[in-house]
Amino acid sequence: MILLNKPVAPNLIKLNSYLEKVNESGWYTNFGPMHQALTERLEDYLGVKNLLLVSNGTLAIQVAAKALNISKSVTTPFSFVATSSSLLWQGMDIAFSDINPDSLNISTDMLEQVWEENPSYDSLLATHVYGNPCDVQKIEELANKYNKKVIYDAAHAFGVNVSNHSVLSFGDASTLSFHATKVFHTVEGGAIVFKNKVDYDKAKNLINFGIQNDGTLGEPGINAKLNEYQAAVGLCLLDNIDGIIEHRSHLFELYRKELKDAIEMPVWHESANYNGAYMPICAKSERVRDIISAGLTYNNIQFRRYFYPSLDQAYPTVKSFDCEVSNSVSANILCLPLHTYMTEADVYKVTSAIKEVL
Ligand SMILES: *Cc1c(COP(=O)(O)O)cnc(C)c1O
Repeated sequence: MILLNKPVAPNLIKLNSYLEKVNESGWYTNFGPMHQALTERLEDYLGVKNLLLVSNGTLAIQVAAKALNISKSVTTPFSFVATSSSLLWQGMDIAFSDINPDSLNISTDMLEQVWEENPSYDSLLATHVYGNPCDVQKIEELANKYNKKVIYDAAHAFGVNVSNHSVLSFGDASTLSFHATKVFHTVEGGAIVFKNKVDYDKAKNLINFGIQNDGTLGEPGINAKLNEYQAAVGLCLLDNIDGIIEHRSHLFELYRKELKDAIEMPVWHESANYNGAYMPICAKSERVRDIISAGLTYNNIQFRRYFYPSLDQAYPTVKSFDCEVSNSVSANILCLPLHTYMTEADVYKVTSAIKEVL
């Protein structure tokens, strides 16, 4: 069986030595030394400032939206459900706007039209889907022109750069998920990277019930802190992150090379590096999708219809500007196995199985 995904396991000897330190200090959560160390190492590794660790990637989106004080957001229908459900859960108004058929990220042409014709939307929440950066330059231009805030759901984009700048440095905030299935993880966890220190400061209070630095109560907050045990897992895994990303992106490139004449795949941002987070393929029709699915199943290869359904279908009462591309793409897209423990031989098994049925 070739698994779709397999979380990276921390070295237990190393992890134990961190956990012993936590036990000795008795400081288990609330911005302790592990939290501090992981924050510093992540800021250094990712080349960003104002990084706030949080307890998961869903709360990261919710807290970022609160900290930036946005209330009505245009968003992508082609993403993991949490991109929309997070904002809907806190009663925010959102509207879906279609994706670009090549990159599968939010269409900037559509976005411009939506912002032009609907001035009440104060922001954008866009996903760098599969770790493929959005057109960040064009979005910045539009956000400046229409005076909108931008949050990127960068849950897939750990370690991705655009022209040697971290993709997390674009927008007013970028959110990360450190769920066990992601390229880098803390079992459950996440982070928000803010452009401005004031927003970071506000968010740091918000994730601790809204308690201010002087101990008084500010606007109501939530509990979204990452604890010391989880931060310790992050410190262990960060030691190997370069090798992990190098291996995964190598497998990703091998997949793309082997499949380039056989099937369509998303077009990647030309100035971005790969992080090997996901391996999506786009079948031409439902029939082809089913033939590939059957071939993979027959060969004991896991795969997933990811992302399906298009989120405007999942939430039909939510406002939706035309989402035709997202609907047609999500009908036929499949994600192939890609994880840290896969080998080149596994990739060849998957690509052969696909080419054979095609
Ligand atoms: C994983 C993921 C999330 C949610 O992150 P959690 O840490 O599981 O809450 C949000 N958005 C996207 C695009 C994701 O892939």
